[in-house]
Amino acid sequence: MSLLSGYEHIVRENEPLAPFTRLNIGGSAEYFAEPTNEDELTELVQRFAEANHPIRLIGSGTNLLINDAGVKGLVIHLAAPDFCSIEVNENRITVGGGTRLSHFVATAVREGLAGPEQLVGLPGTIGGALHNNTDAHGVDIGTWVESAEVLTRAGERLKREKDSLSFSYRQSSLSELVILKAEFVLDREPAENLTKAMQKLWIVRRSQQPSSELKAAYMFKDLGGELAGDLIDRAGLKGTRAGKVEVLDSDPNFFVAGAGATSEDVLSLLQTVQTQVSQRLDQTLEPAIQIW
Ligand SMILES: Cc1cc2nc3c(=O)[nH]c(=O)nc-3n(C[C@H](O)[C@H](O)[C@H](O)COP(=O)(O)OP(=O)(O)OC[C@H]3O[C@@H](n4cnc5c(N)ncnc54)[C@H](O)[C@@H]3O)c2cc1C
Repeated sequence: MSLLSGYEHIVRENEPLAPFTRLNIGGSAEYFAEPTNEDELTELVQRFAEANHPIRLIGSGTNLLINDAGVKGLVIHLAAPDFCSIEVNENRITVGGGTRLSHFVATAVREGLAGPEQLVGLPGTIGGALHNNTDAHGVDIGTWVESAEVLTRAGERLKREKDSLSFSYRQSSLSELVILKAEFVLDREPAENLTKAMQKLWIVRRSQQPSSELKAAYMFKDLGGELAGDLIDRAGLKGTRAGKVEVLDSDPNFFVAGAGATSEDVLSLLQTVQTQVSQRLDQTLEPAIQIW
């Protein structure tokens, strides 16, 4: 049996990955799969794992830099409705790993469930947010997780309970290949109050974050209470360029890619910023973006 036999309808070869990322940069995936249900996903992962092919998961690609040379092996995208479900039961919300974070936030607010409104305006999926423990305004998504269903790199389905999970700044112990779904337990609060809070936070975020038309990436982790953007600013690096990529003036922790930008441009600018911040301020910036 060939690697793809029976799965030709959901696996494409040499699929360009740039359109699946916010930076819109990078080469192709050797194999790219959009399974329609968990059984297909599991079987594919088992086949590729047995054949020793690398396997990766892509969410909305808002925190990814893809190398221009592309990536070997299989890249999985959870776009099918089976992976994007959202169910509310009293103060519990169960959300599929491919669900947009914005859908989770809007549902929680509408149902009078407090907390997620603080993540309004953040791009990405639930899977990406849990993988990175996405945070805003001092609140991170890991705070409300009760359990998560995952698929391991060997293709085994597991349920991870709260006690076995740990979340810290931009880090999570949910490191399995696929976060299939997660259950969140939230406190009740009147939906009207949450809507007002969300609207205020949305206005602030919109004014701070690069517009959705820009090909932008959030580059570095904050450091010991200091914003990475402030360090880059203090090092005098606003507006610094490498090729077609530039440090954004309004928030220097974002790099913005122009037409024709390459992964080399991003990596070169990343290196320049790290080196200059280290030399001028004696601080070591660590990338927040994942590099494939
Ligand atoms: C404009 C802008 C503003 C941002 N603001 C913030 C912010 O305020 N706070 C913050 O924390 N981040 C921020 N980010 C970073 C980013 O949006 C988040 O980290 C987001 O949660 C990533 O989700 P994604 O679906 O795009 O993940 P991707 O970029 O697709 O993937 C990121 C990582 O998650 C893994 N992953 C994705 N889905 C799954 C899954 N289902 N199962 C297992 N692993 C998975 C991928 O393999 C990869 O390693 C910002 C980014 C942008 C572009």
